[in-house]
Amino acid sequence: SRFSRQPDTAGKLRVSFEFFPPKTDAMEARLWETVTRLAPLSPAFVSVTYGAGGSTRERTARTVKRILDETALTPVAHMTCVDATREEVDQVIAEFVDMGVSRFVALRGDPSAGLGEAYQPYPGGYANGAELVGAMRRQGDFDISVSAYPEKHPESPDFATDIDMLKRKVDNGATRAITQFFFDNDVYERYVERVRRAGIYIPIVPGILPVHNFTQVANFAGRCGARVPAWFAERFEGLENEPEIHALVASAVAAEQVLDLIERGVDDFHFYTMNRAELPYAISHMIGLRPRGGDAVANQPAAA
Ligand code: FAD
Repeated sequence: SRFSRQPDTAGKLRVSFEFFPPKTDAMEARLWETVTRLAPLSPAFVSVTYGAGGSTRERTARTVKRILDETALTPVAHMTCVDATREEVDQVIAEFVDMGVSRFVALRGDPSAGLGEAYQPYPGGYANGAELVGAMRRQGDFDISVSAYPEKHPESPDFATDIDMLKRKVDNGATRAITQFFFDNDVYERYVERVRRAGIYIPIVPGILPVHNFTQVANFAGRCGARVPAWFAERFEGLENEPEIHALVASAVAAEQVLDLIERGVDDFHFYTMNRAELPYAISHMIGLRPRGGDAVANQPAAA
């Protein structure tokens, strides 16, 4: 059984952590605690999301800059095409590059009118993730990740259309795809098979969402193309007012998912941290990652 078997993963696994740019000083302090806590696990990279409508452009840039200045981590800047002309987007890419960024996640983004509205490309803007990849590639030989949807994007009429978009991103220079979160590993495995059959060979890194708040995740999932299976919902049933138990269950459930993916041959994981360290740390620990002193936090100022 898996229970008695520690996966033989020493030195083979890669993890990365995703953060969102903080809105307030208190949120910034919490993010920084999280970064400091996770850094010794030596993630391959940490990524910073880009808010709707470019609203977080400054905050994303500031967060990326702080990671560059104060840690030895490799930051990855997310960017979207929303509400910006091609020239404006090209300018933002150039600013990140000037800062020292050489890795991006290229996204179309969601309509600024809100999820569920039809996406309208901004006049004179890039229309989708694939066009943004091309724009980045024209500025340099960057490491460019893109999105992938194991349950297809809600706007895609079918899997063929969805995977065709992924193919266009790869043709334009994407080097890695990170998936939307999912809770059914069979779904991921079938998706990767489809993608390979379509002649796409870049890594399809599973995006793992540790469930900090099941109610929120359940409300949010459907709109972003992720299903919450009934058996998964049952795990969290009745824990709405039991935060400690909820956290223990969430840790167990996510560790189970990741260990099962390892058995299926996956060795690279991207964690949606929600700017919190506990669950990603616990799961990373479960799969054998241990803190390394010094190097990953080398430029970290001493704690007050
Ligand atoms: P695309 O891949 O460009 O398009 C999505 C789908 O729509 C395609 O698969 C395709 O089937 C269909 N489609 C689009 N255009 C066409 C067309 N012209 N013809 C036919 N079909 C078309 N959002 C943010 O705002 N900021 C972030 O930082 C951010 N980070 C993310 C990171 C990851 C790993 C993931 C998975 C998602 C992230 N998102 C982020 C969410 C993302 O912006 C939304 O899911 C958005 O709705 C789609 O963006 P995309 O780049 O995936 O779109």
